[in-house]
Amino acid sequence: MKVATRLQEIRPSATLVMAARAAALRREGKPIISFTTGEPDFDTPEHIKDAAAKAMREGFTKYTAAGGILELREAVRDRIQRDYGLQYGTDQIIITCGAKHAISNALMALCNAGDEVICISPYWTSYPEMIRLAGGTPVLVKTRAEDGYIPSAADLEAAFTERTRVLILNSPSNPTGAVYTEDKIKEIAEAIRGRDIAVITDDIYDRLIYGGHRFASITAAGEEVRENTIIVGGVSKTYAMTGWRIGYAAGPRPIIQGMETLQSQTTSNPTSISQKAALAALRGPDDACDAMRTEFDRRRKAMLAGLRQISGIQVTEPFGAFFTFPRVASFFGRKVKGKELRSSIDIGEALLEEAHVAIVPGAAFGDDRAIRLSYALSFEAITEGMARIAKFFEETLE
Ligand SMILES: *Cc1c(COP(=O)(O)O)cnc(C)c1O
Repeated sequence: MKVATRLQEIRPSATLVMAARAAALRREGKPIISFTTGEPDFDTPEHIKDAAAKAMREGFTKYTAAGGILELREAVRDRIQRDYGLQYGTDQIIITCGAKHAISNALMALCNAGDEVICISPYWTSYPEMIRLAGGTPVLVKTRAEDGYIPSAADLEAAFTERTRVLILNSPSNPTGAVYTEDKIKEIAEAIRGRDIAVITDDIYDRLIYGGHRFASITAAGEEVRENTIIVGGVSKTYAMTGWRIGYAAGPRPIIQGMETLQSQTTSNPTSISQKAALAALRGPDDACDAMRTEFDRRRKAMLAGLRQISGIQVTEPFGAFFTFPRVASFFGRKVKGKELRSSIDIGEALLEEAHVAIVPGAAFGDDRAIRLSYALSFEAITEGMARIAKFFEETLE
């Protein structure tokens, strides 16, 4: 049977592929330490689970409005008002099956065939594929480690054409951990001013920021930019709720309504029970996520210190999310058991085989010179894994 052409250029998520390979080796009894995790290793806080259990017991188990229950949209409205200082109506807010679904639906609502969508590279691995599925063309704007992986206005302007329709921003960034400063965001807002370019701002890591850095949103750049922006957020990363599948978007009414129509004809509503859980998360205490952030920060520092001790590795300090993105290209040309390492994928495979450590090759994010290490695993596992990585680069390589 033939698969439709629309799927022929789409690759399965590379991060999930590496995680699956690590899991297979683990099943064979190998003591694998996996730095591939794209989700908090903490459990969903109890009060959130209780809200879901209560919803279930009370029979809140039927269809809801396709765009989510009003109470949850109100909670998102209040959250956005508090965090961004912006007023949205509940008809400008939609609840989705995760932030990923919100981004994908927003692209579907914005892109016509051949429209160009700007992705800052290194990019989250799903963006280019979601853009293609929506009929758009991904245009990559490469950033440099020296610039903290943040594009300049000139970098963006060089990529704009008459066909540019959307710019995707993601700060804190997965994979680089870059947090865009207010000044940088202003510069980007200036670059798009007067150009009729919509912005999708993927703010899924807005609460996971360290080292005194602050979250800055492009919506602060004024009414014109705000009217062209779709804010995407969710509970997955902030509240350790990846499996519950609840995200949201806020933006211009026609686009949000388009997304709701799309949702009504495809997924229907996000899970009713999960919506009640997300409501408890957004309305409830933040102690659990504060504790999680503190622990992530401790691990971030330990991992960074470990990486900086390995000669040949360069790393830019990440200030958000839960990833480091060390550069390993200086090892290209070195060998393991006679086999030459030529790419981040070769390094990922060799690390898995020789050191029993799983990472995600930078190639999955458009940068073959680096690898991505998650610190969403225990401090002990990080310590042991870092020791293995050091040994691999300093002793195993020929
Ligand atoms: C995890 C992640 C998402 C998706 O989150 P869900 O709400 O679980 O769909 C979106 N963007 C980035 C950059 C992520 O890392």
